[in-house]
Amino acid sequence: MGAQVVEVVEHPMDSQIKSASIVSVGNEVLSGRTVDTNAAHIGRQLRRIGVPVVSAHTVGDRREVIVRALELAASEADIVIVTGGLGPTDDDLTRQAFGDYLGCELELRDDLLEAIRNRFAARGMEMPQRNRIQACIPKAAEPIANEWGTAPGVAAERGGKLFFALPGVPREMEKMLDASVLPRLGQLAEGQAVAVQRLKCFGTGESAMAEMLGDAMDRDRNPLVNCTARIGIITLEIVATAASRDLAEAMVVDEETRLRNILGDVIYGTGEETLAEVVGHKLARAGRTLALAESCTGGLAAKLVTDVPGASAYFNRGWVTYSNEAKVAELGVPADLITARGAVSAEVAAAMAQGARRRAQADHAIGITGIAGPGGATEQKPLGLVYISVDDADGTITSRHVLFSQERSFVRLRAAQTALNALRLRLGG
Ligand code: ATP
Repeated sequence: MGAQVVEVVEHPMDSQIKSASIVSVGNEVLSGRTVDTNAAHIGRQLRRIGVPVVSAHTVGDRREVIVRALELAASEADIVIVTGGLGPTDDDLTRQAFGDYLGCELELRDDLLEAIRNRFAARGMEMPQRNRIQACIPKAAEPIANEWGTAPGVAAERGGKLFFALPGVPREMEKMLDASVLPRLGQLAEGQAVAVQRLKCFGTGESAMAEMLGDAMDRDRNPLVNCTARIGIITLEIVATAASRDLAEAMVVDEETRLRNILGDVIYGTGEETLAEVVGHKLARAGRTLALAESCTGGLAAKLVTDVPGASAYFNRGWVTYSNEAKVAELGVPADLITARGAVSAEVAAAMAQGARRRAQADHAIGITGIAGPGGATEQKPLGLVYISVDDADGTITSRHVLFSQERSFVRLRAAQTALNALRLRLGG
């Protein structure tokens, strides 16, 4: 792994950079009955226009709690976007809370009332009295037009901070965000940009990764490095915020170089790339072919390989040799080797890979044998023990892995991924 030291320029978060906080209102969001897709959508859209979201809060339908959430959000960011609680029922309290926060009464606006009435009239209905409340907004605020539903939104300014309240219904919220909020924020944050790069890693755990990265993951850095792990794949997301796109992108490039120097070939790809795609591109570029001999993964490695469009250019064939007899008959694994070493052994994994390569006349072959559980483990051969062999004209490399997981499906998926990673490392840069 590279020990080269790269000079790092720290960019403190510019005080001019406008950031946002999101407040999701509703007991149904709090209880988990509704998944907060609004916050996710707003986060993505704001990032796209260069406004980083620094916090998101979820609160129930209680007026004083919504007020406190507004105060908190405003203490953290320049822009506060609230969704939910603009309906006509007694549990919809966002506009009242806004009035409290701004220190003013709600005011019935004739133009808004007229628009709501017209909306009902267009469907041949009379507006229920209950909907009058939706024509009320705090005196110190202005309405945000809603052509997609009855409740207008609310926009306000206080202490140099901007506030927007939008309905909870995702479709209405998204349309109003697009039509009225993003253009305004785009002007406010003109030039400002958020640049992002994702580095996909395999072959180390999250804690070992954190050790290697040292202070790179400090929370007050810009660029910020976020780390998420899923079935053995660790994604490092570099997020740089700057006063211009060029600067943000340059910061991301610097950080990527620094992380690549620390992590070396632990990084297998970028963006949304999968291990199977990376391995597939390497094989295709080199004009090489692959065969697979699987036992505990039951064809999962072949599935991952063939998930990639165009895999027929390099994937030759695969065997699922689950029984000892199949390993002997299909791949030519010596029966006495299985008796002597056991089906889950380095020797059998190697013989599986060699047999597969010979019989398929492929350039590379992988053999996978292991204990996916829940049964079958012994003291010497624990649950999650997997041997992986990669065979090619230069020889056979076999590795032993113990993949910790209580779940059979995870052990199998990690084993298949580990096998693809072993081939990736074998194929080199
Ligand atoms: P309405 O006028 O329909 O009452 P509202 O502004 O009062 O709108 P809510 O009553 O809080 O919004 O929610 C309306 C609908 O929107 C519900 O079906 C709810 O599940 C959905 N919703 C509310 N908040 C969110 C959220 N944060 N993410 C996704 N969906 C949400």
